[in-house]
Amino acid sequence: RAIVRDIDMLEEKNPSIKPKPTTEVDPTVFEKRFLKTIMELGKGHFGRVDLCRYDPRGDRTGELVAVKSLKPETCEEKSNNLSREIDILKALYHENIVKYKGICQEEGGQAIKLIMEFLPLGSLTEYLPKNKNKTSLSTLLSYSIQICEGMDYLGSRNYIHRDLAARNVLLENDHVVKIGDFGLTKSIKDNEGYYIVRDDDVSPVFWYAPECLTHCKFYLASDVWSFGVTMYEILTYCEKNPVSCFKEMIGKTQGQMVVLRLVQLLKDGKRLPRPEGCPEPTELLMAKLLWIGFLTVFWRTSKFLPPSVSTH
Ligand code: ADP
Ligand code: MG
Repeated sequence: RAIVRDIDMLEEKNPSIKPKPTTEVDPTVFEKRFLKTIMELGKGHFGRVDLCRYDPRGDRTGELVAVKSLKPETCEEKSNNLSREIDILKALYHENIVKYKGICQEEGGQAIKLIMEFLPLGSLTEYLPKNKNKTSLSTLLSYSIQICEGMDYLGSRNYIHRDLAARNVLLENDHVVKIGDFGLTKSIKDNEGYYIVRDDDVSPVFWYAPECLTHCKFYLASDVWSFGVTMYEILTYCEKNPVSCFKEMIGKTQGQMVVLRLVQLLKDGKRLPRPEGCPEPTELLMAKLLWIGFLTVFWRTSKFLPPSVSTH
């Protein structure tokens, strides 16, 4: 106690040595002036993802981060979408889901950016064609299982991803994948087990289940269909594109007719072909996936049955 009293007296005599209260720093708030863009990682319809270095010390020792932002001309509705994507990602914690790091907000509160961990190997679409030789079938299947684990977690939080595709699955390293891009993700918590989408101008229709195409209705099980298409991409090392594959099957057509023909094709029981080198048991598994997905959803939320899934 005597020492403390001595220190207090010393501090009173020399105010300059008094420790200043440290201002609390929120590690999830990134300051725009310290965020240096290095290169573009990807570009979507409304936004872009850049590789940046967050370098508060200005000596290039700062960490690398992936930054998602909207194109400057984007309307308010789309900027709300990014805010929603941020709120969703912020609350997700799973080893197969890309990690949220924080936000960067410009002065005046406008133009919010999403800061994520940077995954240097990029998405499966970029990685697989280049690394065919060192990626075995069992690794491809391990990626598929990891995607299931991430999706299972997402479903347990009552979210439908709505954009599951190889381009949105990122690699942490040669053995670990993570689901990204929650831009189209919807919550079904307050709905009846499905979500009705109003604006479908940029929908990845070739990844969509029939009920999404015909009624714009999205169930947890609709993601299972997209997972089947994603697995097709993975097993073809992303060298086959479901878009061109389906387009070849439906023949030359444009606009709304594309979706109508696609629906008819699926109703006729036509599916993407078995990927080259994919053994029969895996093909069987892919055919059964929708059924398994259906059963899982049935088991979890037996009162919310998607009407059309049972027929596929
Ligand atoms: P969009 O909504 O525009 O599709 P995404 O979140 O899918 O945005 O990102 C677009 C692309 O940017 C991805 O396909 C991937 O190639 C790259 N990308 C996105 N996030 C990361 C990340 N965290 N690390 C590395 N690359 C990324
Ligand atoms: Mg994407």
